[in-house]
Amino acid sequence: MSGETCTAIVLRTIEFSETSLIVTLLTREFGRISAIAKGARRPKGPFEGSLDLLSVCRVVVIRKPHAGLDLLTEAKLHRRFRGAERSMERTNAGYHVAEMLRLLTDEHDPLPELYDLTTETLSQIDGTGNVPLALLRFDVLSLQILGSAPGMDRCTHCGGEIPPAGRLAFALDTSGLVCGTCRPKQHRIIPVRRAVAAALRTLLSGDKDADDAIDVDAKNYGELRGLISRYIQSLLGETPRMQPFLPTKMETGNDA
Ligand SMILES: [Zn+2]
Repeated sequence: MSGETCTAIVLRTIEFSETSLIVTLLTREFGRISAIAKGARRPKGPFEGSLDLLSVCRVVVIRKPHAGLDLLTEAKLHRRFRGAERSMERTNAGYHVAEMLRLLTDEHDPLPELYDLTTETLSQIDGTGNVPLALLRFDVLSLQILGSAPGMDRCTHCGGEIPPAGRLAFALDTSGLVCGTCRPKQHRIIPVRRAVAAALRTLLSGDKDADDAIDVDAKNYGELRGLISRYIQSLLGETPRMQPFLPTKMETGNDA
């Protein structure tokens, strides 16, 4: 049986036997898949030790839609994740990306845009990019690609206009801003400063050149990070394991 070739990011590996691994991959072509890689724990073989967490690989997979697991027959390393060589902050940032993709995506739902966003984010994280901003951008844009972006333009309950002045109200149950009339009906409200809402809108616009223009002073970052993290908790109904390890400040730690 001949397999199909695709590009993939390793999201998780689990030891299956003395020689085999079960891997969770985000592929550009087929979305998230789980596959067994027989012989992957042997030093020599068709996998060449390439199946490490967050490695980007070219893989050959035999798809088994009716079995639980696909079969991985080959993997060739394109790029290894080097965050761990740089700092704990960059390592944790990589783990966060892997966890988000496992929790938010469905199996066999190809989203090339999400794959490309992920490889771009990983190269910022394990290079010299700004980790707090790269993660915020990843979280917000991945939610958007998955159709779960927070609604920031009109009231997410009645569709009416958002009042032009004063503090804004973000309702977790309607996934976005609500107007003054709908606000009292909402139980889980997060007050949001206008500067923070503006920074979130800029991130949602996906305009990379705008990143520099986002007002990312310490206060805006902390509030925006908190809002997005609570929103993700609300969507998932649980707190992701890596969330407590996300950067709390805009400044990236010293990697030296
Ligand atoms: Zn309303």
